[in-house]
Amino acid sequence: MSYMWSVFLSSLFAYHVVLDPGHGGIDTGAYYYGLKESKITLNIASDLKELLKKNPEIKVSMTRYKDQKLSLKERADRAHAKEAQIFISIHTNSSPDRRAHGAEIYFENQLGADEESLFLAYREENQEFNKNLVGRPSKFRGKYPNTVATILDDLAKSKYQASSYQLAQTIQNRWLEEKKMRVRLRQAPFFVISSINMPSVLVEVGFLSHEREAKALKTRKYQKKIAQILYKSILDWKEQWTNNRSSL
Ligand SMILES: [Zn+2]
Repeated sequence: MSYMWSVFLSSLFAYHVVLDPGHGGIDTGAYYYGLKESKITLNIASDLKELLKKNPEIKVSMTRYKDQKLSLKERADRAHAKEAQIFISIHTNSSPDRRAHGAEIYFENQLGADEESLFLAYREENQEFNKNLVGRPSKFRGKYPNTVATILDDLAKSKYQASSYQLAQTIQNRWLEEKKMRVRLRQAPFFVISSINMPSVLVEVGFLSHEREAKALKTRKYQKKIAQILYKSILDWKEQWTNNRSSL
């Protein structure tokens, strides 16, 4: 097959990834040791975008490309507009306990969140809590009778939740392989991931409140390393996704 023809075919079946650099603009997120969460998340997402762009089978978009404040709903709307296959929100963590360290990967599921996760979800998304959040938009309402649409939406939600959990596991496995550091899988009702009609995770790449981790996170080298880990995770996940699709 000619190169041009394969580029054309891969563009038809492109695998679209949406990256969401957390916070931005006046919402800096965590702020420790002179480091802004919003800047680190934008750096890592931009590095990851550059890596993904080199792969002709992957399309990549970001919810923001500059230091700009976006509401959580705007982030979800931008992901839906792209009809993407996966959504990855990138954040840095913080804790009043300065010893807390390591990466945490959050996904949505049916279980109740533990108190600590609820606290984090509240803090990360505090500015949105008083607005009228609507949650995941229906994909089926208007096309089917409401009772049928509700069932179809519930089924789709279960599917996204199962895939999100698998995506979180894929990232955790790759992270552990590439870097011997603590990586925990957790579930919490973050609006930004639970309102999206696609597999989605929120990755807290490290604690800005931890002095050693903050020092590392400050460097472009470490930011690029994290982008590499996420890049390889996305390739791992894409391979599984392509295999699953061809077996349907
Ligand atoms: Zn954050």
